[in-house]
Amino acid sequence: MARILIWSISEITVFKWGLEEMLYTCPVCCYPGLERQPRQFLICPSCGTEFGYDDATLTHEVLRYRWIQNGAAWHSRAISKPHGWDPWVQLALGGRL
Ligand SMILES: [Zn+2]
Repeated sequence: MARILIWSISEITVFKWGLEEMLYTCPVCCYPGLERQPRQFLICPSCGTEFGYDDATLTHEVLRYRWIQNGAAWHSRAISKPHGWDPWVQLALGGRL
């Protein structure tokens, strides 16, 4: 049973990542897996930006610079980072490097 459960969860994850048109990209760190538009206090699991709060006083460029200065680490403890996640690849794919 445990094997089936794990297989099902990973299949759902793959399914979610395949639905690109339903996901949003973080304008700060270019994480492409946001489930809602980056506003209304959504917190990006990758860079930790709280939209509507952090970006109310700082630009996305400044927030990105700060995230990079702090090591560009995965932020969320509740959401684990995608397998093979690399912040530099993510930034490069988003055209921010
Ligand atoms: Zn982000």
